[in-house]
Amino acid sequence: MLTMKDIIRDGHPTLREKAKDVNLPLSEEDKNTLRDMREFLINSQDDEIAKKYGLRSGVGLAAPQINISKKMIAVYLPDDGEGKSYDYMLVNPKVISHSVQHAYLPTGEGCLSVDENIPGLVHRHYRTTIKAYDIDGNEVKLRLKGYPAIVFQHEIDHLNGIMFYDYIDKDHPLTPLPDSVEV
Ligand SMILES: [Zn+2]
Repeated sequence: MLTMKDIIRDGHPTLREKAKDVNLPLSEEDKNTLRDMREFLINSQDDEIAKKYGLRSGVGLAAPQINISKKMIAVYLPDDGEGKSYDYMLVNPKVISHSVQHAYLPTGEGCLSVDENIPGLVHRHYRTTIKAYDIDGNEVKLRLKGYPAIVFQHEIDHLNGIMFYDYIDKDHPLTPLPDSVEV
């Protein structure tokens, strides 16, 4: 099982690389990586297991965060606050369309690869449509808004070497954009 020692931290060069496309059909190795990533998220949300292994709780993980520079993400979000759950292992995900309107979390964002709390609003698209492939190589299209849209955008950014704090306005870190909604 993956633990925090498998997760590379801010400053590691892999986090700034553009990850490579995954070949389809997926290799057994790539499938196992995805399953391990999902398992980490589930474990991290289980109080007992998280405490035992010292896991920080997370809802998303991208392969570059475990030092594998390939386009793979896992999202495990049992409740998005509106009664919907998200449980995905995706390869080669792409944002294919998005709203002009932005959204942000009032408390900012965190990341398993960033140990310290970095205050500041991270503006993302309020709505996004994502195209990707699942572990069996089937095409998946997701229409997302609000919190889950933010989570998927954060993870897809990891595949492009982008960290959440790159979006924080240095002069006005806590000022919402005029067209944005708090999520
Ligand atoms: Zn992250």
